[in-house]
Amino acid sequence: MTAEAQIDRHCPVCAGDRGAVCLQKGALRLVQCDACAMVYATPVPAEFATGEFYDRSGLPFYLSPAKLEGDYAAVRFERELRLFRRFCPGGQVLDVGCSTGAFLFQLRARFADCYRVAGTDVTRAALDYAEQRGVPVIRRSFLAPVWEAGQYDAVTFWAVMEHLAQPADFLRQAVRILKPGGCLFVLVPNYRCLAVRWLGAKYRYIMPDHLNYFTRDTLRGLVGREPALAVQAEGSTHWNPLVLMKDFRSSSARVADGERAQLLARTTRWKQSPWLAPVKWLYRAGEFGLGGLGLADNLYLVARKEPRL
Ligand SMILES: [Zn+2]
Repeated sequence: MTAEAQIDRHCPVCAGDRGAVCLQKGALRLVQCDACAMVYATPVPAEFATGEFYDRSGLPFYLSPAKLEGDYAAVRFERELRLFRRFCPGGQVLDVGCSTGAFLFQLRARFADCYRVAGTDVTRAALDYAEQRGVPVIRRSFLAPVWEAGQYDAVTFWAVMEHLAQPADFLRQAVRILKPGGCLFVLVPNYRCLAVRWLGAKYRYIMPDHLNYFTRDTLRGLVGREPALAVQAEGSTHWNPLVLMKDFRSSSARVADGERAQLLARTTRWKQSPWLAPVKWLYRAGEFGLGGLGLADNLYLVARKEPRL
């Protein structure tokens, strides 16, 4: 398959095929579905749909020192860990799109006795790294039928659904492999966040590898396709004032992967600095306010697989 091959997509939430172009950024073309208002990219390079793109980006991006420093910092997954612990106190956990395994590494480092974990991803080099850090990995397509039904207490998709050409297929498989009573965790960028409202196409996370642009309603719409799932919690979280300022000043050209990773690593270092405690308080107040208004950078959703189904 050539890198230039393109695929046309229907709405990933309702499968509708009617919509209007709502944003254009270079070759990236976003369409808003007439039926359910979901915003998604179409057409998209086939290598995003097959995962080839991510397998190739292993070394230059996911394994770059700045990206690893940011991902493996103790504060990186603190919100996700807090949310996770609220709904899954123990059991068997699968992290889909685990990249270099940092979430599972932190989960095990803090609660070693509570969980049996595994990660899966399309980026082989990232899985190699996860294994080096002691995180067990499963090297097979998540959509393959060989995954045993009803075996996991939790399935997590941290910043993964936005990359998938067929998120509904991944959701269906997640529901199949969850135990009755098990929980699904989803975190995606928020298309109604302050950054998108303010910066529009200039915002760095409107980018070719993001194929789906969820709002609270469309994320609920996607999860609502699975009648076995009952939503337990949802909201918006995270914000990065540095990204806002940088993107405000920049042109709308794509931010290089290296720069993106470096800025995240720098933000993470600042979050850990004792000198910046007062700034951190302001930052948290900002996040609390934006989260309350549904304007923070990410959306999270937790859903339980109904025990009776
Ligand atoms: Zn739709």
